This record gives sequence, C-alpha cells and structure tokens, in this order.
Amino acid sequence: ALDTPIHDAVLGGATEQYGDTVALIDGTDGMSVTYAQLDHVHRRIAAHLAEAGLRKGDVLALHSPNTVAYPAVFYGATRAGAAVTTVHPLATAEEFAKQLTDSSARWIVTVSPLLDTARRAAGLAGGIEEIFVCDRAEGHTSVLDMLGSTAAEPSIAFDPGEDIAALPYSSGTTGAPKGVMLTHRSIGTNLEQLRPFVPMGPGHRILAVLPFFHIYGLTALMNAPLRYGATVIVLPRFDLEQFLGAIQEHRVTGLYVAPPIVLALAKHPAVGRYDLSSLSYLVSAAAPLDADLAAACSTRLGLPPVRQAYGMTELSPGTHVVPLDAENPPPGAVGKLLPSTRMRIVPLDGGPDLGPGADGEILIRGPQTMKGYLGRPEATAAMIDPDGWVHTGDVGRVDDDGWLYVVDRVKELIKYKGYQVAPAELEALLLTHDAVADAAVIGVRDTDGNEIPKAYVVRHSTAPHLTAEEVTAYVAERVAPYKKVRQVEFIETVPRGASGKILRRELRDRA
Ligand code: ATP
Ligand code: MG
Repeated sequence: ALDTPIHDAVLGGATEQYGDTVALIDGTDGMSVTYAQLDHVHRRIAAHLAEAGLRKGDVLALHSPNTVAYPAVFYGATRAGAAVTTVHPLATAEEFAKQLTDSSARWIVTVSPLLDTARRAAGLAGGIEEIFVCDRAEGHTSVLDMLGSTAAEPSIAFDPGEDIAALPYSSGTTGAPKGVMLTHRSIGTNLEQLRPFVPMGPGHRILAVLPFFHIYGLTALMNAPLRYGATVIVLPRFDLEQFLGAIQEHRVTGLYVAPPIVLALAKHPAVGRYDLSSLSYLVSAAAPLDADLAAACSTRLGLPPVRQAYGMTELSPGTHVVPLDAENPPPGAVGKLLPSTRMRIVPLDGGPDLGPGADGEILIRGPQTMKGYLGRPEATAAMIDPDGWVHTGDVGRVDDDGWLYVVDRVKELIKYKGYQVAPAELEALLLTHDAVADAAVIGVRDTDGNEIPKAYVVRHSTAPHLTAEEVTAYVAERVAPYKKVRQVEFIETVPRGASGKILRRELRDRA
C-alpha cells in the first residue's frame, strides 16, 4: 500500500475479491452499491473529470453530507489526480469560500440541496472551473451522467509519497482550520498500521454516521471498511432514533463514534426500544471520553468495554488504538501505540522526557505524519520539529504497560492559583450526575482577575430544578479543592463541532 495511490490501495482488489458484496447502503432509503459497481463508477467519474479538464494536482472540493456516492467521487477524483478537500456540508458560503481560496480549489462536487451555498462560495472565491452535483440540478453535470461517459480512463503516474490525496481541514477547535496535506502514502500507511486493530471484512456492517469529510469518518468509516470488504451503512446526519433504527434494521456489527454519541447511548431512554443485539463492539475517538460514561454505555448495550482510539488530522489520523484482543483495557486508556510509530512525553515547561505516570505534552513520530499545512510554513514548523516529532498540543501520560491516557489539550488547561485543572476531567465528573444531561467547562476570570473553572450545564429533562449550588457541591465533594467548579451557568445545549469536540471558544465568547 505504501507505493499505491489510495484509490488502488482501497479498491484495487474490490471487483475480484468482493465483487457482488454490498459495499454501501443508503440508510435512509435502502439503496445499495456493490463493490463491482463502486469500482466501475469511480473509474467513470475519473474519466469524466479528466475529460472535463481536471489535471493532476488540481484541488477538488467535495461538499456533501455522507451519501453512497461520496466514496465514488472521492476515489474517482484521486484517480484523476486531484487532491480532495473535504468540506463541511453545513459550512456557510463565506466559510466554504475561505476553504476554496485557501486551497486554490478549481472544482466542486456538491449535492442539489447545497447548490446555492456552493454557487455563492464559488462566486466569492473565484477560480472555479465547474460545479458538479451528485444528484440532479439543472445546468450542472451530474455524477450520474458521468456513468455514461465514454472517455478514456486517465492514466496518471503517481508519486505516493509526494502527491496529495486528501486535503482535509483540521477541526478549528483551537484556531482557524488549517488545510492538512495528506499524501497517498501517509493515508495508505495509516490504513496498514490500523489493519490488525480494525475488525473489518465481509460480513461486517459498519454504520457511517460521523461525517466522511472529517479525517476520523474518512478513515474509520470509508477507507478502512471499503479496503477490507465490509458493508457501510450511510447516514447523512446524526439523529438518535434514525441511528438506532439503522442499527436494528441493518444488523450493524460495529460502531465508530465520538463521545457525544456514547453519551446519548448511555443516557437516552430511546435506546431501550431498539434491538441492538447485532453490535459486537464500539469505538470512540476524537475527544476525551470519561471512563465511567464509557462503562455505563457498554454495560447498557451489553457490549465489551468501549475501545478508544486517538489521533489527529495531521497524523492521517491514527496513532493509538485499544487492540481488539485486549481483554480488559484499563478504563480511560485511549490505546497503545500503532506499529512503526514512536512517542515521547515531554514536560510542558521544557526539560528531559518524562517516564510513565507523569503528565506532559504528547509528541509523535511516524510515517503517517502529514506533509505539512498547505501554505502555512510557520504553522508546519511549529507542529513538526526538525527531527520529525509532531507536537500534538495534547497533555497525556503513559502507564507502565504502555497505555496512553489523554488528559486534555495544553491550551485548554485552566491555571487556578498555580495549579492546572483539566476541563475534560470536570466535564466527565459532571456527566456522572443524574440530573446533568451535558456539560462543558472553561476557565474564566473572577473579579480579582484569577482564572477559575466555570461549568456550563445542560439540565436533564427530568431535573428542571437542578441548582448551581447542587452542581458546585457535587463536584466539591469529589475533587481536590483547587479543582472545584466556582461558577455555574445553565444552558440549552453545549456547542460542539462536527467531530464531537466541545467548542470552548464559543463559550468563552459568551463569557
Ligand atoms: P484544530 O487543530 O484546528 O484546533 P482539532 O485539533 O480539534 O482542531 P482534529 O484533528 O479533528 O482537530 O482533532 C485532533 C484532536 O482531537 C487531538 O489533538 C485531541 O485533542 C483530540 N482527540 C482525538 N482523539 C482523542 C481521544 N481519544 N481522547 C481525547 N482527545 C482526543
Ligand atoms: Mg489540532
């Protein structure tokens, strides 16, 4: 795979190996696509794009919720030589235009309900050759039309270690989203590294509810299952009842989700009304997950312990997973280091590397590292040091057996009178309170200018009278005094990004 472009690494053997196996099912209407069809369709798309003028190195923006067409467009575009920049389907025209400009995109593939936004974005950004649609829209060539294309399939000479296959944008949790240059090789390498740890193959039915446009969905829900012959059930957005209904109807075997879905599965009353007995495992990644919440979820569903994974867009994305055969992974661990990847834990204020048990910044070095941020050499240099170590910006520690625990992001730590308080720890604790439906914690200044932890709490529908005093007392009884929550505000929902991360900057703006 290391010297194979990603469309070949994933679909290379599709027709021979899996042929009539169903590759994708639309979870809303049951429409399905076999491996042989997916292989055929993506080649026709590549042919049409090349005929339309797409050249190797062009950037194509894929602007769509999860659909069964998404992988065909993605691999069709890479086969034609494009770097695919995946776009949030709910982006505003201005946000989308920024990504088009930043990435110098020349082509757009969208869906008709989003066409207005795409047209406005293209107008704002300029430089777009053509807008295609996956479904039907007057005046635009559809991917469906491309299937009838008689153009020759492009034959491009790839340099997998240099050529960009995907240009996803980081989530923008800590600043402006940055375009992450992932080569065919970095993505293909990570798939190989993950292989021993992802139970995927014919017979496995994976539910794709997290968005394909984010690197977690792109890898865990698209590249990996399609590489190994699983069937992917595609949902366009997360709606709990639709999600549970799809698991029941399609006998889904494995879930890759983010902590907010684990929370819903652990707490929501609707869960009991569905037959979820087909599930054999659940993986959570992309944001901190509390051990008690994870345990509550797996017990409720009758599943083995929730397996976490850890990574970031810049690392294609995986670095740690909890191995399948780990019988009793320690609660809270995000996993063990993947093959051919190395890690160091370094003190936040400089000094020699830390050993097991001590908290410090997580540094990673491995072949899955991005080529860099597009057009941001300083940001790239700040992220990857001259020896190739990626400075993740996350605080963590390892135990004596090599399990990694992620504490929080360096930038999110609250400095209370010289002590460091991790918001993620307080959020996890708050969620263990029965009357708390959701919670987020940030540092705010008190009247003396000291930074203090403030909790934003969503009351459970069954507990409309929960008070701030009850919340502060609950936390105070369970943590060291310096970690006490010192202000509480009740809110309707916790703002989260597409990959499930709490958008603490939105809460800070509000504070
Ligand atoms: P930006 O870099 O633009 O601010 P982001 O870091 O949120 O956004 P992503 O690449 O989507 O963008 O997320 C990677 C981050 O997600 C990691 O650095 C880490 O903070 C967090 N993360 C991923 N997996 C886990 C996990 N299992 N537990 C805790 N945090 C995790
Ligand atoms: Mg980041």
